[in-house]
Amino acid sequence: MQIKVVEKILAANDAIAAENRELLEKNGILAINIMGSPGAGKTSLAEQTIIALRSRLSTAVIEGDIATRYDAERLAALDIPVVHIATGGECHLDAPMVKQALLQLDLAAADVVLIENVGNLVCPAEYDLGQGKKVVVSSVPEGHDKVEKYPLMFRLADAVVLNKVDTLDAFDFDVQRFEANLKDLNPRAAFFAVSCRTGQGIDAWTDWIRAQSPLPRAGEG
Ligand code: MG
Ligand code: ZN
Repeated sequence: MQIKVVEKILAANDAIAAENRELLEKNGILAINIMGSPGAGKTSLAEQTIIALRSRLSTAVIEGDIATRYDAERLAALDIPVVHIATGGECHLDAPMVKQALLQLDLAAADVVLIENVGNLVCPAEYDLGQGKKVVVSSVPEGHDKVEKYPLMFRLADAVVLNKVDTLDAFDFDVQRFEANLKDLNPRAAFFAVSCRTGQGIDAWTDWIRAQSPLPRAGEG
């Protein structure tokens, strides 16, 4: 039966995700699984995050893409370690792929690992990668109905970043509705309205990262 096969795949995934989590915890690393649609700005957010954190924390990136190395190359240009996972058609990352990537990084030297998932609002939500935090990037041009239409991903998110708020004048995007729907569905999710282009809101977002365990608390050290 189809259903049994799928359950077996997810159970196998979860076992490897637990190994990833242990490996990350042992090395004191905060790993963030960045999910969202193609074009929402996942790579742009990673770029802004790396730049904002770089004086205090060392960040490495695991970059998942079905095709091309464009995003991996763009982030490697920031002079940080990047492992590219070419998923070969798979529309999400899974825990075994991330494990292979983690083993290629110098984990002792990293504080934060940003895992950019494949652009997709559906199945990445179902695969635990062993990350510490899950973040969904949504963007103004996509419309304010995404929380309602793709509830699983938003329900599981520790934080939601609404990107491209510099374009609000050009779109009928109701930020209050988006945020209210998010709070209804997932009251514990942190919410940030940002523009990766202008830098608006990036400080609040990176302050949130710095406050997460196992990183040294913001303001200390
Ligand atoms: Mg990208
Ligand atoms: Zn998929």
